[in-house]
Amino acid sequence: MVCGGRSPRRNRLAASKADTFMATLPADLVHAIDAHLPQTQCARCGYPACLPYAKAIALDGAAINRCPPGGSEVILALATLLDRPVVPLDPACGPTMPLRIARIIEAHCIGCTLCIQACPVDAIIGAPKKMHVVIAELCSGCDLCLPPCPVDCIVMESAPAATWTAERATHARERHANYAARKIATQRMRATSTGEPPVATTPSTPPLSMEARRANLARAVDRARTKRIQRPPRR
Ligand code: SF4
Ligand code: SF4
Ligand code: SF4
Repeated sequence: MVCGGRSPRRNRLAASKADTFMATLPADLVHAIDAHLPQTQCARCGYPACLPYAKAIALDGAAINRCPPGGSEVILALATLLDRPVVPLDPACGPTMPLRIARIIEAHCIGCTLCIQACPVDAIIGAPKKMHVVIAELCSGCDLCLPPCPVDCIVMESAPAATWTAERATHARERHANYAARKIATQRMRATSTGEPPVATTPSTPPLSMEARRANLARAVDRARTKRIQRPPRR
């Protein structure tokens, strides 16, 4: 039987293409959003890092104004990409500040290694009971090493203007991916040896229900389709 003037085979092909579109669009969208984020991995957006925030924007419809390091530039880029209104930075996430770099006051460091474990881009080197050092070229200024230091010997200092380049952001993304993979592996090993479930790395913002996620995804697909239809024909 021919449906809508097309053979069953062509219908199956069309359905398969639509499925592929649905399956690939979220990943592409997450990648496109993540490409606009500064990659400091500071978690000020309320998510554990840049990639989880990109996923939340793409799949859960999270607000686009939660990244203080990116500020108005990132909001504008995301609004353009996602066809959403430009909104001011959410003050609950903190202000936009110039890049700062961490420095360890070596004489006070007791070599506890807690800052190494907290640094999301592996910018600190040191060994147990030995002095630790921040590699300034790798530091994203995220501040995450400050709270765990038991002797408050880490200070944040101004970085030269325009220090956080696209190249450094790319490196930070890669270094954070290694850090996150290592953290998960360590948690799994610990869970295996102790029998306790691994600690979940969930965002601080509550996740949406599956229905809401589907609705957001469907809206994103609709917007992408509408954009395609509105695009002028190629000559
Ligand atoms: S730079 Fe910080 S606030 Fe911005 S998306 Fe990345 S982790 Fe979130
Ligand atoms: S050294 Fe401190 S401020 Fe710099 S990236 Fe690592 S955790 Fe963040
Ligand atoms: S957390 Fe502080 S004391 Fe511990 S190794 Fe890092 S800088 Fe040194």
